[in-house]
Amino acid sequence: MVKINTVLGTLPVDQMGPTLMHEHMVLAYPGWEQDAIAPPVDLKELASACAEAVGEAKKFGVNTVVDATPCDLWRNVELDKIVAEKTGLNIVCATGMYFEAEGMPVYLKFRSQVMDITTELYESFMQELTVGIGKTGVRAGVIKVGTSHGCITPYEEKVLKAAARAQKETGVPILTHTQQGTMGSEQAALLTGEGVNPKKIVVGHMCGNASLEYQMSVIDKGVYIGFDRWGIGFIYPDNLRKATVLGLLGLGYADRIVLSQDCVTRIMGRQTVMPDFIQALIADWSYTHLFKNIIPQLKQAGVTDAQIGQMLVENPRSIFGG
Ligand SMILES: [Zn+2]
Repeated sequence: MVKINTVLGTLPVDQMGPTLMHEHMVLAYPGWEQDAIAPPVDLKELASACAEAVGEAKKFGVNTVVDATPCDLWRNVELDKIVAEKTGLNIVCATGMYFEAEGMPVYLKFRSQVMDITTELYESFMQELTVGIGKTGVRAGVIKVGTSHGCITPYEEKVLKAAARAQKETGVPILTHTQQGTMGSEQAALLTGEGVNPKKIVVGHMCGNASLEYQMSVIDKGVYIGFDRWGIGFIYPDNLRKATVLGLLGLGYADRIVLSQDCVTRIMGRQTVMPDFIQALIADWSYTHLFKNIIPQLKQAGVTDAQIGQMLVENPRSIFGG
């Protein structure tokens, strides 16, 4: 039996249960700590806020949550541990790096001028997957990578290649970030070209693109796709996400889709005040939107319990365990 790494230790893969494959507790954009006006971190208060929010998902049967926050967006393993203890949820944390424009530590940018950062990233990912993250003793359970809108930058290509090497040695899944579902098939081609088993890849944020032609170009690579941003209406409307997933389910692809919400309890730094029209577009966005609103609507449209179970339980188990 394959065991997966959670922040509180290993878990037999068949005990994952219903799984949200792409959420966050908190995140922060590089540089926020230099804002002298940003409120200081109160880990206890933060953990309580996260536990209260994500704990709601447990009431709908969720048993495991993947915190897909990459290293460079202030992934916080101590926080994940407290939230896991408070809620009883299994939380899986990530190693890996975000897409260049919103992540990329300047450290790597500097080193890349003279050093082989593909190897350095691979070594860093391996450390976090097999030894532990910092001094926490927690091992990452997935590798997160990302690409830009409409292109894969040279830096992102290095991250993907480093992730591929670490994946092949450890067997953990790779979760990707796509900008509005662009470059999904290119990501899949690059990773599988490096020898990664497509069944260990989830191309993320594919619900940002209603073109079935595009969806098929990614599915044809043999990978899983993430419909993982339900509720983020300013990026893409849920109605088009629904239409697309219904089309794919109608074609028999329940065994290739995972569901999640890309929710986050707090973005660190000064509070970001969204304009009213954006707030209206994310009014339903939460760790439970899928269960309160989307799944009932999909069922009304003819989606079966077996298909929902496939996407929430069996696919995550296969991705981690297969
Ligand atoms: Zn995310």
